[in-house]
Amino acid sequence: MTEVFDLAVVGAGIIGALTGRLALDREPGLRVLTLDQGGLNASGLSAGLDVPTGRDARQRELAARSTALYRRLLAERPGLPVRPVDTYWLIGRDGLEGLRRTMAGPRLLEAGPDALAGVFDGLRPSAGQVLLRSDGSSHADVGGLARGLLDAQRAHPGCAVRRGTRVVAVRADGDGHRLVGDGGRTLAWCRSVVLATGPWATHGPFGERVRAAGLRIKKVAAFFLDLKPVDGAPVLIFEDDDAFLLPQPESGRWLFSFTSREWDGSPAAGPPALSGDDRCEATRVLRRYVPSTAGMISGGRAFYDGYTPDRLPLVEAVPGHPGVVVAAGGNGSGYRLAPAIAERALGLLPPLSPGSGHP
Ligand SMILES: Cc1cc2nc3c(=O)[nH]c(=O)nc-3n(C[C@H](O)[C@H](O)[C@H](O)COP(=O)(O)OP(=O)(O)OC[C@H]3O[C@@H](n4cnc5c(N)ncnc54)[C@H](O)[C@@H]3O)c2cc1C
Repeated sequence: MTEVFDLAVVGAGIIGALTGRLALDREPGLRVLTLDQGGLNASGLSAGLDVPTGRDARQRELAARSTALYRRLLAERPGLPVRPVDTYWLIGRDGLEGLRRTMAGPRLLEAGPDALAGVFDGLRPSAGQVLLRSDGSSHADVGGLARGLLDAQRAHPGCAVRRGTRVVAVRADGDGHRLVGDGGRTLAWCRSVVLATGPWATHGPFGERVRAAGLRIKKVAAFFLDLKPVDGAPVLIFEDDDAFLLPQPESGRWLFSFTSREWDGSPAAGPPALSGDDRCEATRVLRRYVPSTAGMISGGRAFYDGYTPDRLPLVEAVPGHPGVVVAAGGNGSGYRLAPAIAERALGLLPPLSPGSGHP
């Protein structure tokens, strides 16, 4: 017999996990099903840094809303793997006013030139640079956070989480939808669907719609530095190069995130390799700011994320399919913006109420 749910979420990354959570926060009686094909995903490989900023007013609004929603979530579930982290910025003085405008809540204060002397040998702002400090940032084990949320959903009456289950199509059926898996088998019937398929969005259900919206897949990469962070080490952001150093005390190393420019790969083939070009770019940025670390690169991680032309998440109802919403386009910030993305996705669905539909 076909299982029936009020809401199906396709994708168990951070956006899918928060979609289920926020839906149940609003209406605890809902029957929510989350399906995931399994394997690596962007959330599991994320650096997990949340610095509440935005390049334009719309990004700042999403960042501020996400901060509020994460704060509420952590007040309710203090054991989730998210911790505050001090944040420093090294930036050319002429970029200072622009940076101030990007803040979506945090205060930005000038720090003394020696503020990071105990963190990195010889790191001081050069002439024309300024060292700043901001509050309000946090760091998460994003995969662990998503798992924690989904474990709670699995234990919620009427709800389920199915891993190792790929959804190949979503078909209109009565006043809801039939989720179709490999071999054409019916996986479940549901009233509404949120597709939170991350970098698979361009080729999964309604992939043509996502491609038509201009979403493309880009590699997101980070190297590890073989250097133990001092206790309480902060994040250090190199704003002019869109890169940052994040302490990972639990692994005894630093993670260096930088901009990789490889477009149009596919997660279907597994995680991308870190290339010679990636290493050159990482070394160039490290030499510029913290030369003592440039020779310490040892391994790294990379995956894909969806990027939109305006760098805003793609959250839209699928035309002609009432009750189906796409929530994709993390744009390399999908962890920190996930709560607001999930909230917007739910807001585009017809009102959800328990037991409101049937096949
Ligand atoms: C190396 C790296 C560093 C990053 N650092 C940061 C950072 O510091 N801060 C930040 O905010 N963001 C960061 N990001 C970006 C952030 O991690 C992503 O934007 C975010 O995790 C995307 O979440 P998601 O839920 O959309 O996708 P995913 O986590 O990829 O989840 C999508 C899920 O959908 C499943 N799926 C796909 N298609 C189907 C289907 N047809 N049927 C069933 N299941 C399906 C997939 O298996 C996957 O589990 C980073 C990303 C990477 C790769």
